[in-house]
Amino acid sequence: MWQTVGHNRAIDSLTLAVQNGRLSHAYLLAGPPRVGKHTLALDIARALNCTGPCRPCAECRQCQRVSLGLHADVYVVGLEQQQADDTRTRIAVGIDQVREAQRMASLKPFEGSGRVFIFESAELLSDQAANALLKTLEEPPEQVTLVLLATAAELLPETIVSRCTVLKLRPLSHALIEEILRNEHGATPDLAERIALASRGSLGWALDALADPSLLEALAEQLEELLGATFGTLEQRFDLASSLATRFTRNRADAVSRLALWLGWWRDVMMSNRGAPELVANVDYREQIDAAAASLAPHQVTGAIAAIAETLDRLEGNVNPRLALEGLMLELPRPGP
Ligand SMILES: [Zn+2]
Repeated sequence: MWQTVGHNRAIDSLTLAVQNGRLSHAYLLAGPPRVGKHTLALDIARALNCTGPCRPCAECRQCQRVSLGLHADVYVVGLEQQQADDTRTRIAVGIDQVREAQRMASLKPFEGSGRVFIFESAELLSDQAANALLKTLEEPPEQVTLVLLATAAELLPETIVSRCTVLKLRPLSHALIEEILRNEHGATPDLAERIALASRGSLGWALDALADPSLLEALAEQLEELLGATFGTLEQRFDLASSLATRFTRNRADAVSRLALWLGWWRDVMMSNRGAPELVANVDYREQIDAAAASLAPHQVTGAIAAIAETLDRLEGNVNPRLALEGLMLELPRPGP
């Protein structure tokens, strides 16, 4: 049984591929943060290694080992990975991580029938890392499946996207999230509704917020701060750069998650700009998103997304965070009223 909630279209096509023995050697799962990309990637890993009658069964030893994060053939390359000399949260996926994955990929599976490499936040691959990964995508080793996770396919080089089977995961409906919170997690109807509305279609975030309702207020505050600067004066933007730089020095993960939130907001502007408003995740901010989309040219919007992604990438290097963030504030277009 697939553990992914919703995303029926992606599950249907994967089910067919499993039945016909035609799973692709590379997938790109594209969708907003915490929407279920990681769960679906693990489902693919379970389907590849499952020994049950109906893959992925989620019950056999292979499936369970994947679910528990113990399977030796399932390898996650992500931002949270700690390095021996450095315990900070990473903010770009570097060449060293890709090389290590490639070294592992050249080995035979240890305990299952296929090795799966999951690249979280693939839009944050450094240029060097993306080039290295491209080589593996061009000549994938036997028994190896790559699963790239990204908020939008547009944020990855076309050369990479064209070598992957792209599965787009849309935000889940409020109604579905509300129902899951109420029926499966015992949330009161009132709280379930509030969290579902704020979740931007991300079940992972909704479950976190149910465990810790202060996330609701924190999210609203963060978005207000970011939007103040988006529509505000240069002075307001520089104030934000300064406060983000201070945060970055004290708590990298917090500053990075705020920038990621902003990236998500601009991604919504891109969706609205391209005439796909149903893909907008921050539905509570629909008015501001549509206004920004209407007043900016498409290249300005993709430029904003690239500028934030690049700033995240640069912050990983040895740059002065304040200078990098001030540079970003100068680069971001200001939507008209
Ligand atoms: Zn199984």
